[in-house]
Amino acid sequence: MEKHKAEADIATHDQNPYKIVKQLLSESVKQLGLDESIYHILKKPMRVMEVSIPIRKEDGSVENYTGYRSQHLDVLGPCKGGIRFHPSVTLDEVKALSIWMSLKSAIIELPLGGGKGGVIVNPEDLNQRELEELSRSYIRKITPVIGPEKDIPAPDMNTTPEIMAWMIDEYDKLRGYNIPGLITGKPIIIGGSEGRLDATGRGVVIHIREAANALNIDLSRATAALQGFGNVGSATAKFLHESGVKVVAVTDVSGGIYKEDGLNIPALLEFIGEGNVIADFKECESITNEEMFALPVDILIPAALENQITSETAPSIQAKIVAEAANGPTTPEGNKILEEKGTFIIPDILCNAGGVTVSYFEWVQNTMNYYWKEDRVNKELEEKMIAAFKRVYEMKENKGCEMRQAAYMVGIRHLVLALQARGWIQNGDLSKL
Ligand code: NAD
Repeated sequence: MEKHKAEADIATHDQNPYKIVKQLLSESVKQLGLDESIYHILKKPMRVMEVSIPIRKEDGSVENYTGYRSQHLDVLGPCKGGIRFHPSVTLDEVKALSIWMSLKSAIIELPLGGGKGGVIVNPEDLNQRELEELSRSYIRKITPVIGPEKDIPAPDMNTTPEIMAWMIDEYDKLRGYNIPGLITGKPIIIGGSEGRLDATGRGVVIHIREAANALNIDLSRATAALQGFGNVGSATAKFLHESGVKVVAVTDVSGGIYKEDGLNIPALLEFIGEGNVIADFKECESITNEEMFALPVDILIPAALENQITSETAPSIQAKIVAEAANGPTTPEGNKILEEKGTFIIPDILCNAGGVTVSYFEWVQNTMNYYWKEDRVNKELEEKMIAAFKRVYEMKENKGCEMRQAAYMVGIRHLVLALQARGWIQNGDLSKL
């Protein structure tokens, strides 16, 4: 066991998500009264793989992309986590995302560990054939470390059910038979789950509802603004609208739109579904991300990228609830500013856990080869989200801390109990947990 102080690992975190997550782990281990050795167990993924993915482009040239898969910890079950295609993917980002996945599964009490994958690529630069080749080649390269009992990938930024279908097809070809439990977020026809596409957004809105109850906010009179209108953002907007919340602003990579009386979300969903971008939606004003963050809304939902709520953007935020639908959208400096203002933050590892929860249901259905109706998926998702919110909220009340720290403590507590059951922790006094 390493003996050096946790602080030495994390002296300057700037906006590196791996350093940020290590700092939060270290603080939470201390706050739970656990030995520092727990931090040293949790701080590193158990396995990381880097792969090279050469792709022949349409013009005959070869471009070699870099991909990663990080598996953080499998003491609760096989690793599980999405695959991201994005130009700003880094090894540290993938490691951080795999740690967040471990914590997320632990908070929800799923029998899964944390994994994550990423490829450094802008999918906009690829045509359909090149994208398919990249997806198939990435999965070939990581085949030795994945599988339904080892590590189960899923979609994340810029990866879709179609991409999951190419990936599982490639894996099945290599193995010689159909193994539906390899990947979740698949099209329903080949073993995907009802309700998976909307699951993350549905979960986000369940947590917003629980937070609003705790704060005595009437959702039918509330307003919201969202950054990102992809898988998570669009489903979140849909369920907010259905709950009576007025969504006044939305941004995506193309720009942003604002309407004081509330955007017509069903029309916007249809417009985006036809392949359009937010900036081209008519009859509303345009707005930048910075302006959107500063709106006098009740609920602000970052559902796009990391490091969006920073020392620069946080001071102007007026929302009472910040629901972190994206992973890692708030820097430690941004978080401090929001906490000082008394903003109620629903932290990412709780807020967006609906995705992994229904991915877990998909994997269970694949294993049983028996498929559930959507009502059952949504009902079980709701039960798990409410129970997790309650666990985190109770920890916040008991320890007198903020929701983020409480979520880390709930996740770490669950992992530590599994570590102890496996004999990794010999003499630790866990009675206070
Ligand atoms: P996506 O690719 O479907 O959508 C991303 C959205 O972000 C797009 O609308 C894009 O235009 C927008 N965006 C990109 N850059 C932007 C910018 N500078 N300003 C405003 N908008 C911008 O991805 P997704 O699956 O919706 O994932 C979004 C976030 O949610 C990520 O952090 C991801 O890790 C997290 N998440 C996703 C899932 C899931 O099930 N898909 C589950 C948990 C967490």
